[in-house]
Amino acid sequence: MKALTWHGRRDVRVDTVPDPVITEPTDVIVRVTSTGLCGSDLHLYEVLGPFLDEGDILGHEPMGVVEEVGSAVTALSVGDRVVVPFNVSCGTCAMCGQGLQSQCETTQVRSQGSGAALFGYTKLYGQVPGGQAEYLRVPFGNTLPIKVPDGPPDDRFVYLSDVLPTSWQAVEYAAVPPGGSLVVLGLGPIGDMCARIARHRGVETVIGVDLVPERLERAAARGVDTLNLRALGSGIADEIRSRTGGRGPDAVIDAVGMEAHGSPVAELAQKATGLLPDRMAAGFMKTAGVDRLHALRLAIDVVRRGGTISVVGVYGGMADPLPMLTLFDKQIQLRMGQANVLRWVPDILPLLTDDDPLGVDDFATHHLPLSEAPAAYEMFQKKRDGAVKVLLRP
Ligand code: NAD
Ligand code: ZN
Ligand code: ZN
Repeated sequence: MKALTWHGRRDVRVDTVPDPVITEPTDVIVRVTSTGLCGSDLHLYEVLGPFLDEGDILGHEPMGVVEEVGSAVTALSVGDRVVVPFNVSCGTCAMCGQGLQSQCETTQVRSQGSGAALFGYTKLYGQVPGGQAEYLRVPFGNTLPIKVPDGPPDDRFVYLSDVLPTSWQAVEYAAVPPGGSLVVLGLGPIGDMCARIARHRGVETVIGVDLVPERLERAAARGVDTLNLRALGSGIADEIRSRTGGRGPDAVIDAVGMEAHGSPVAELAQKATGLLPDRMAAGFMKTAGVDRLHALRLAIDVVRRGGTISVVGVYGGMADPLPMLTLFDKQIQLRMGQANVLRWVPDILPLLTDDDPLGVDDFATHHLPLSEAPAAYEMFQKKRDGAVKVLLRP
């Protein structure tokens, strides 16, 4: 089959690789029909080289049609339409039992201390081949895949793999009180969807911050107040405070994460704000020139006293120094983590209707064949051609 494989920094290719086969009786093989490109893929593309092996198959946002089932699979049949959650969870351990699928005790790589295994996230998370491919082996066929109805387009359901539950959890963790305010830092696919979900769930004031004009316009078109970090520079914090009664927002979602590190946009953010790079802890993140913690520090600065910061963006490695005294003195609640995908599906599924309150049907800016995946990565990273969400159609 054809699959998108990693070969080096900013070097991904579509290669011919062996078809996946059933190895456990509960496995299913899915023929992938749509598969997303995610900000998390950019970490692999840009900075996580030391953790990849040449030929690793990337991708963790797939959906498709069940092509083959193992002998112990009773919940699915050949021909069923399924979405595959990005975390690989068993459905039966103590963590899965309490809706913490991202901490699945069966699939986590204990020696590394990381959470559940992830599709397409290399040896960092269990070395499970990813879903930017024509076919995907999915374990735990009776509990993991999400069965969805035939009929509506793939775009209606594909974001159940990651974007929707991730953003839902981020908003849940932000715990904005009734009548309260929320700032969303970063308006990539995740931040954009966080803002949509918050608006849908009745948060009155949602302020979105980014540097990319198309992303700001897209959020503004859905009722989000937007602030351009590049235009405001170091005045951003005062502007946020002035729009939130001087006190700051009740909650901030950081949907930037490591994106603040190493990309052209990050360098612009760095120049725009004039902040000096943090003294970074030792480790692989030690790359000069960019304050990768800028978004998180801004969150800590602006959130109101007693407010909540929901960190959905992924920060790898050490974060040193974090202003612990400010966190303590302001009595800030800090919540974070990989999404527990299956936990939120029952809340989200009823919203995936023809009314489309979250705008999923038009959420993708690009649909491309798998063969164009390398160009798609470059376009998504550089934020060219208005790319926000790219779906590949193997
Ligand atoms: P993305 O890279 O498209 O979005 C990041 C956005 O942040 C971009 O629009 C960029 O312009 C903006 N940005 C950069 N620096 C900024 C700054 N200093 N202030 C404000 N905005 C800034 O990626 P995405 O797909 O939206 O993902 C966002 C983050 O969420 C990534 O770190 C990704 O790994 C993470 N993520 C987490 C989970 C989870 O389970 N917690 C799941 C999926 C993605
Ligand atoms: Zn993702
Ligand atoms: Zn489990």
